[in-house]
Amino acid sequence: MGIEVSNVTVRFGGITALSEVSVSLSPGQIVAVIGANGSGKSTLFNSITGLVSVASGSIRIDDDEVIRIPPHRRIAGGLARTFQTPRFDPRITVEKAVLCGFYPVARSGFVRSLLHTPGSAREERTIRRECDGILALFKLDKLRSVPMGELPMGQVRLVEVARSVANKPKYLLLDEPAAGLTRVEQELLSAEIRNLVARGVGVLLVEHNFNLVQQLSEHVVVLDRGSILFTGAPAELAGNRAFVDAYLGT
Ligand code: ADP
Ligand code: MG
Repeated sequence: MGIEVSNVTVRFGGITALSEVSVSLSPGQIVAVIGANGSGKSTLFNSITGLVSVASGSIRIDDDEVIRIPPHRRIAGGLARTFQTPRFDPRITVEKAVLCGFYPVARSGFVRSLLHTPGSAREERTIRRECDGILALFKLDKLRSVPMGELPMGQVRLVEVARSVANKPKYLLLDEPAAGLTRVEQELLSAEIRNLVARGVGVLLVEHNFNLVQQLSEHVVVLDRGSILFTGAPAELAGNRAFVDAYLGT
């Protein structure tokens, strides 16, 4: 069980964005990925979700090789992610944005609801109720009718995380989810990440805030220009002079 990235190399023309990278993530575990801009963190996520093609290596999710599996099937299989730069239609409301996260499970329900067959209304009600629960969890219930274009970036990120958990993923990939969040929003986010993990979700977390990384994860991977520089406990890293100089700017 888990996600097993083994010796993955990704190239964009002459650039080697990832070079022989191996990372593993178990259910109920948080692994943090850190590294300077351009070190390959988002590319690692894109290779796991299938948005970039991999030159060599293997990616297994729950023991299945997924290299040749298209992104939508990986998502249907229990993978969810957020993007470093969330993109939403600015006109849709917070509630609609979160409802979108239910589509992969609701597809048959949507087809049925178009055909007005019995069962669809009940499914619709269940989804609405679960959506209300998620909005409440992220303290977004009062903002449900606000268009996405009117939210500050911190709340846009929270909506994205809320949308990504709607489909009850087994594995969640969060790309810099805390960027632009207030301290209160950050605490809300880390509490929710801990809840998910306690329920057995595996979380891969790209995060610049080393305090948050230390709080949340027992295992950290440092990427440097596409290669793994370090892998181990965050505490080990905090005592590493070269790392502190390079990443924490002290
Ligand atoms: P990070 O998320 O760590 O900032 P990225 O994974 O976004 O880094 O980028 C790693 C390297 O790959 C960078 O040099 C970046 O310019 C390049 N890169 C990423 N995505 C693409 C792409 N779709 N096409 C071309 N180059 C890319
Ligand atoms: Mg990135």
